[in-house]
Amino acid sequence: MDYSKLYIDGQWVASSGNQLFSVVNPATEEVCAKVVMGTQADVDTAVKAAQVAFKTWSKTSSEYRANMIQTLVDKLREYRDELAHSMSIAMGMPLHLAGEVQADDQIDILETYVSRTALMDEVKTIGNAQVIKQPIGVCALISPWNYPLNQLVGKMAPALAAGCTMVVKPSEQTSLQDFFVAKACDEIGLPAGVFNLVPGYGPEVGVALSSHPDIRLISFTGSTRAGIHIAQNAAQNVKRVVQELGGKSPLVIDTGCDVNAAVEYGINDVMINTGQTCTAYSRWIVHKDVVQDVIALAKQKAEAVVVGSGDDAFMGPMVTQAQQERVLNYIKIGIEEGATLVTGGLEKPAGITKGFYVQPTIFADVNNNMTIAREEIFGPVICIIAVDNIEQAIEVANDTVYGLAAAVYAKDKTLGFEIAKQLDAGMVYVNGGSYNIEAPFGGMKQSGNGREFGDEGLHEYVELKAIHVD
Ligand code: NAD
Repeated sequence: MDYSKLYIDGQWVASSGNQLFSVVNPATEEVCAKVVMGTQADVDTAVKAAQVAFKTWSKTSSEYRANMIQTLVDKLREYRDELAHSMSIAMGMPLHLAGEVQADDQIDILETYVSRTALMDEVKTIGNAQVIKQPIGVCALISPWNYPLNQLVGKMAPALAAGCTMVVKPSEQTSLQDFFVAKACDEIGLPAGVFNLVPGYGPEVGVALSSHPDIRLISFTGSTRAGIHIAQNAAQNVKRVVQELGGKSPLVIDTGCDVNAAVEYGINDVMINTGQTCTAYSRWIVHKDVVQDVIALAKQKAEAVVVGSGDDAFMGPMVTQAQQERVLNYIKIGIEEGATLVTGGLEKPAGITKGFYVQPTIFADVNNNMTIAREEIFGPVICIIAVDNIEQAIEVANDTVYGLAAAVYAKDKTLGFEIAKQLDAGMVYVNGGSYNIEAPFGGMKQSGNGREFGDEGLHEYVELKAIHVD
């Protein structure tokens, strides 16, 4: 694959600049690809193409768009191995896991939008008023590096279904899979200008998109810091802003629950993408009666996590050296703040000499005011906080600026559901409940605005129009 061209208006074109980004494979520390970084002028060209395409794409029938999305799904399934490989080398998830988690699951999610194009035809009648739906216009889709295809799909699927056109900007580190998506769009004959790819730096291409007067919606996943900056820029021309931001999600473990299952669930959840999951349950809030059991099991299970890049590995490296340094610094702060290091720490995992690896790390005796309990670490680090009762657990769980996800293990589902209702989070998982791809995904408080996936994900891309006729 040639990563040196942008995909604009149905063509692979050269950038107006000459910047290339070297993608370093975090498992080998070697450059694995060089990717074009676009410019503000490239953004202008792409937005123009998307504006022209919007005139016709927005008027296509829901059946036509459904057929296009299904054809795209089929084509992406052909590229499944390329997608998995491109993400594995750029962000470090072992290939066997990337195939399933980063590629297959995401193509399946795209497919859930085939039938959702029909939602655009729904008309609500209120007396003499008919409320119809229209696509909002040209959209800018900006993604981070941790689940690169997931975050693209969460945005482009509803945009395509609604009849919007788009300019896509992946993270600098993880643009590769988007090139395969652009290639697939090209090969299925998606009309020119509907999908435009302009990789680039956040402060250049990201800012050009968020400030652009002809973009009507910006959907952003990433840090709260960048999300705030984007919203400030977008406010200048009153764009709609959808934000999926950071988290510090709690896992509440109550007395009387299946403690072994709770710990297994929590370890798998945090370690699966080396802690680089926005919803990761990095704060465990545990009833004092079971906290010693939880600590012992967490140590045992964390030490059993296979770290590396092979077919038996469950946990790969951190995405970049900078991210590795950031996580190690938080571990250092945790030790300095007086938390008890149960396992893990500052050394490289045993037997590993290359790559940006960090050990699965567990801290006990954490209180919720410590830096490691308040700030998003985005690494394989779990903080265990003991509480006296479930009321205190809920209070501590909600004592955070974030509100993305939460999980609870209780003695039964009924109690778990009651606790879930009291947690400030956009998604709560009870007694190991699995993720449902048809449900809305998103956060409360500083974890974001709006929802992705499900019917609600489509609504973000829709303008409502009330037509009054007596
Ligand atoms: P980041 O905010 O640094 O970058 C995300 C994207 O925004 C990149 O494409 C980047 O180039 C771009 N960007 C950066 N600064 C920008 C600016 N000023 N204007 C416009 N664009 C800009 O985040 P990251 O380090 O790539 O990702 C990690 C963060 O993402 C974590 O905080 C994590 O919690 C969050 N995240 C949230 C979700 C969610 O759904 N809530 C999902 C995944 C990741």
